Amino acid sequence: MTEITVDETAPAIDVQDLHKYFGDNQVLKGIDFRVARGSVACVIGPSGSGKSTLLRCVNRLEEPTSGKIFVEGVEVTDPDVHLDALRSRIGMVFQQFNLFPHLKVLDNLTIAQMRVKKRSRSEAVEIARANLAKVGLAEREDAYPAHLSGGQQQRIAIARALSMSPDLMLFDEPTSALDPELVGDVLDVMKDLASDGMTMMVVTHEMGFAREVGDNLVFMDGGVIVEEGDPKQVLADPQHERTRSFLSKVL
Ligand code: ADP
Ligand code: MG
Repeated sequence: MTEITVDETAPAIDVQDLHKYFGDNQVLKGIDFRVARGSVACVIGPSGSGKSTLLRCVNRLEEPTSGKIFVEGVEVTDPDVHLDALRSRIGMVFQQFNLFPHLKVLDNLTIAQMRVKKRSRSEAVEIARANLAKVGLAEREDAYPAHLSGGQQQRIAIARALSMSPDLMLFDEPTSALDPELVGDVLDVMKDLASDGMTMMVVTHEMGFAREVGDNLVFMDGGVIVEEGDPKQVLADPQHERTRSFLSKVL
């Protein structure tokens, strides 16, 4: 795989004047923001405000219409960027866990390591087991996804993403599909990751997580960033009426 030369001094994520249309529908209307290395950025906002589209543009699951995005100083929006190399540095976790249903847990964690990272099976297994231990599911490596709870499946999805040794992690509402009693275990895994120094961008409705773990909180509405700042500050004392109105509905 072609290696990408990372700029160690650049922010983890740098989004500049990002616009995105789906047909005539303008979904992102000039987004500018940065995620510092080792920090946790939480993104909140009403349904349809463009949160997922923004996240998906970062690893080019969506094509930006205009604007630039840099990941660790590498221009993601460069048409010649090596997408496999880029994506192998960016872990992504979705609301729906997207595990391979026909593969056992361990194989879910090793397959991309061998195919994309070209790791040997034994190396991939070693890394997979370390990450299963990290999410508290070391004993479930022989299970099939359907035999695990939603919370366990999501922790497996996180372990799978980590097994690719990403530099940063994107989470799109990772706990929204879970029964309430299963949310805490997943958030605990994410908290541990944050304290390990992982750079994370997290779309979430979990305001407690944003307040406790987030270094930065971004409120989006209608395809723009309305307000951003220290999560404690934004949640306690929002500066904009739209933020106040949104928070009054979710808090
Ligand atoms: P959020 O994640 O904040 O709920 P999304 O980014 O999913 O918002 O969606 C923002 C807008 O973009 C919505 O109006 C949605 O219908 C539209 N949209 C998202 N994905 C697509 C797509 N693949 N094709 C067409 N429209 C889309
Ligand atoms: Mg979404």
